[in-house]
Amino acid sequence: MGISKTPYDVIIVGGGIVGLALALLLAKSNKRIAIVDKKGCVSDFKLAQYDVRVSAITPASVKLFRQLELWSEMVALRVSPFTQMEVWDGDGRGRIAFDASSVGENALGYIVENKLMLHVLWQRVLASAQIEVVTGVELERLQRHEDKAIIDLHAGDRILSAPLVIGADGAQSWLRQAANIAINARDYQHHALVCTVTTEKPHHQTARQAFMPQGPLAFLPLEESNVCSIVWSSAPGHIESLMQLSDAAFAVALAEAFQYQLGAILEVGPRATFPLTMRHVKQYVQPGLALVGDAAHTIHPLAGQGLNLGLADAALLAQLIMEDYAHKHDYVKYSTLRRYERARKADNMTMLAAMDGFKQLFGNDIPLLKWLRQRGLNVTDRLPFIKDLILQKAMGL
Ligand SMILES: Cc1cc2nc3c(=O)[nH]c(=O)nc-3n(C[C@H](O)[C@H](O)[C@H](O)COP(=O)(O)OP(=O)(O)OC[C@H]3O[C@@H](n4cnc5c(N)ncnc54)[C@H](O)[C@@H]3O)c2cc1C
Repeated sequence: MGISKTPYDVIIVGGGIVGLALALLLAKSNKRIAIVDKKGCVSDFKLAQYDVRVSAITPASVKLFRQLELWSEMVALRVSPFTQMEVWDGDGRGRIAFDASSVGENALGYIVENKLMLHVLWQRVLASAQIEVVTGVELERLQRHEDKAIIDLHAGDRILSAPLVIGADGAQSWLRQAANIAINARDYQHHALVCTVTTEKPHHQTARQAFMPQGPLAFLPLEESNVCSIVWSSAPGHIESLMQLSDAAFAVALAEAFQYQLGAILEVGPRATFPLTMRHVKQYVQPGLALVGDAAHTIHPLAGQGLNLGLADAALLAQLIMEDYAHKHDYVKYSTLRRYERARKADNMTMLAAMDGFKQLFGNDIPLLKWLRQRGLNVTDRLPFIKDLILQKAMGL
């Protein structure tokens, strides 16, 4: 049997949250889209059990899900709004609090399980007549021609081709490497431990984060009033030692580190860890090729921005591509891709730099820095105008 060759208008490599959202945005045109993922497309989301991986998503990301008419489905399953946020310095002397009402919003953001988002996105993608799903395949080769990129699939009996290929294939992006795109990368020297916990006291829909010299510890409120998802970032050795503890010993260590802000920890779920690395590509685009989401940048989770930045990439790239299509261009122009690169690189760079600043400021015990950050938090807490500006940036408004 010969090799079959299927032409598309756009191929998206990677069916994570960012790639799927982008495919659905582009499916509003009359173009043929392929989404290629090395894994399968069925998420094993179960309502009976919280996913250990959750994301704090901003009102800007909610707007994107609304635009795709997916938000009400997510809400019907389970999303957890948070109306307040408290951040404090590890020893409790500096503290700042934010409230949604100060910026006229109902919520500062929402905690949503990653598997839930994937479940809702995949259902819609599978129902779309314009999107073809190619899953469970290993990509082998990227071949470039003047007018199109051709991707060879490992199976060897199929070639997908399109004038535009988009990499949404995560931090280790195959497409980024195949296109020889260089990245700046730096180990944050932190691993993140995530876990669902039941606390003695209710969370009152407040997201809380303690900045300790070893790293930040966040409690993100879930639907039940005393259940939170935690993200504990610290030195790899420290995280490894926390992973070795029994559930009971881990519950005590966690409550102590969090200064019993929510009382004792009554139950802990399975723990998972992730190494944290800052990555930022030097190029977001080449002719006929673009990168979005974690394929283009990864950031410390301390401000819960990685996915939000990825969704903002997808929103802008889709908008610019659709403008080209609306002008009856068959191909997406390189100048269009460069516009996307300029806008998103600047925005993402600002956030990456801000996270570095945070990590440096809170990540050490130099007395002057300690005094500055405690005073900084307390003074800022009394400046509503500055607080609102910080909030608006964090919410993507
Ligand atoms: C501990 C932790 C907490 C976080 N908390 C938040 C938060 O609160 N808020 C927030 O906004 N962000 C958060 N993030 C960041 C967020 O999880 C990521 O930015 C986001 O999931 C990236 O989505 P993506 O679709 O770009 O990539 P991914 O989710 O990595 O998806 C990539 C997809 O590509 C596929 N793929 C990979 N390689 C190939 C290949 N060779 N061929 C085909 N397919 C391939 C994969 O199977 C996968 O489906 C957090 C991250 C961590 C580690």
